[in-house]
This record gives sequence, structure tokens and C-alpha cells, in this order.
Amino acid sequence: MSNELNISSKNKHKIFVANWKMNGSKKLLEEFSTFSQTKPNDIILCPPFTLLGSAKSVLPDFIKIGAQNCSEEDNGAFTGEISATMLRDSHVSYVIIGHSERRTLYRETDTLILKKVESVIRSELTPIVCIGETLLEKKAHQTLQVLEKQIKSCITKVSAQSRLIVAYEPIWAIGTGLTPNEYEIRETHLHIKKKLSLHFSIDVPVLYGGSANAENCSKILSVENVDGLLVGGASLKKHDFEMICNY
Ligand code: PEP
Repeated sequence: MSNELNISSKNKHKIFVANWKMNGSKKLLEEFSTFSQTKPNDIILCPPFTLLGSAKSVLPDFIKIGAQNCSEEDNGAFTGEISATMLRDSHVSYVIIGHSERRTLYRETDTLILKKVESVIRSELTPIVCIGETLLEKKAHQTLQVLEKQIKSCITKVSAQSRLIVAYEPIWAIGTGLTPNEYEIRETHLHIKKKLSLHFSIDVPVLYGGSANAENCSKILSVENVDGLLVGGASLKKHDFEMICNY
């Protein structure tokens, strides 16, 4: 059965996404030009828009380029916006969509996030769709329901053949130094994988994000169905991100 869930998810290689947020500079990008890779993992670096132009020439070829957001529209009178097709012209292959900071600070709803996911797919790029619960929702034991709702409203509405990546990012773990324990990560990732496998015909990688760093990465990556990491703060230090990607 094509959509049968491979619960143990024995993918040998992992996916590592660096989310620089509104940080970084040309100098930092140049530091990453000597990034070394000792394992055949996929590495995606998402700098701010202003560094995308230089990323292709500065970064080693094995680092793929991602953006942190895009418009839901393809083109038109939308001052200040950048579309997925424009990103494709800048050698971008991935776009983070629905990060919790965009959901809370810029009031992005599941409806808008779905439109953005669709526009990224239409432009033949791969969306990295972020989902996750708040601390209040976690305390109310609503994590799995919240994730299921987000999956239904902004992920499984796209075609079953679509290529995408999902990042599970508990909002309370982002930038706080807190992480869920291994049991919690195992439970949520299994739930997400199961829901995705009911719709998609190919395995959708599910990354963990939220205070991942060089110290805790191997423990998190050893959990079943964790296909990689989305890294914020620790991706701003070349040495730390190198340690994570070559864990
Ligand atoms: C993020 O912003 O997606 C993130 C995971 O940040 P941090 O690693 O700093 O918690």
C-alpha cells in the first residue's frame, strides 16, 4: 500500500533547516562558505530576503537555499510583498510557511497559510509548513487535536502528490531553551505522520523545531519519526550548526 505508514521511518539521511529569522549579515553568510559536511544529510539555509541574492554564490553547493515567508499571490499590486515565483528566480528551493512568529505577530491564519502553501507548490518549490501548540493548549492536553486541526486546514487540502516538509514546533519551545521530552516528541511525531499518511501518497518528512542545539540534537534525532530539525538560534553560529548537521 503506497500510503502505509513506515512507523520506524528508517530514513538514513536527515533534513536540517536553519531559520535565521531577521538576523544575519553578509559577513555571517560568508562564514558559512566554509561549512563542512561529513554526513549525507540535506541542509537548507533560510536567511533573510536581502541575503538570498548572494546565498547561491557564497554558500557551498550542498547547502540548499530557503526563504522564511512569501506572498500568497503570484504577482500584482502588493507593495512590499515577494512571491514564490520571484523566490524561484533567486535560486530558492524551499519556503518556510506558517512559522508561529508569523501566525502570532502578523496574524496569519490557517486559511492564509494554505494559500501560501498552494502558491509555493504552484511555483514548484517545497513548502516547509510549521505547526505546533501553545503552552496553554499543551497544559489543557489539546496538543494532538490542535495539530490535527492545523494539518487538516493548511496541509492536507493540497494534492496527495505534493512534495512538502512539515515542521512540528511547539510554540512554547521556540527560543526558550525548553524542549518536550522524548516521549512527547515520539507521540506527536507519530500522530502527525499517521495523519499525513492518510492523505499523501509519499512519505512527508516531519522535522522537530524548538530550542534544538548541538547538545540535545542527537537525543531528539534518535526519536522515531523525527526526520530532521528546524533550528533557529543555534543556526546563527556556524560551528554549532555544523555540529548539528553532522551529529
Ligand atoms: C524557530 O524559530 O523555528 C526555532 C526553532 O527557533 P529556536 O531553535 O531558536 O527555538
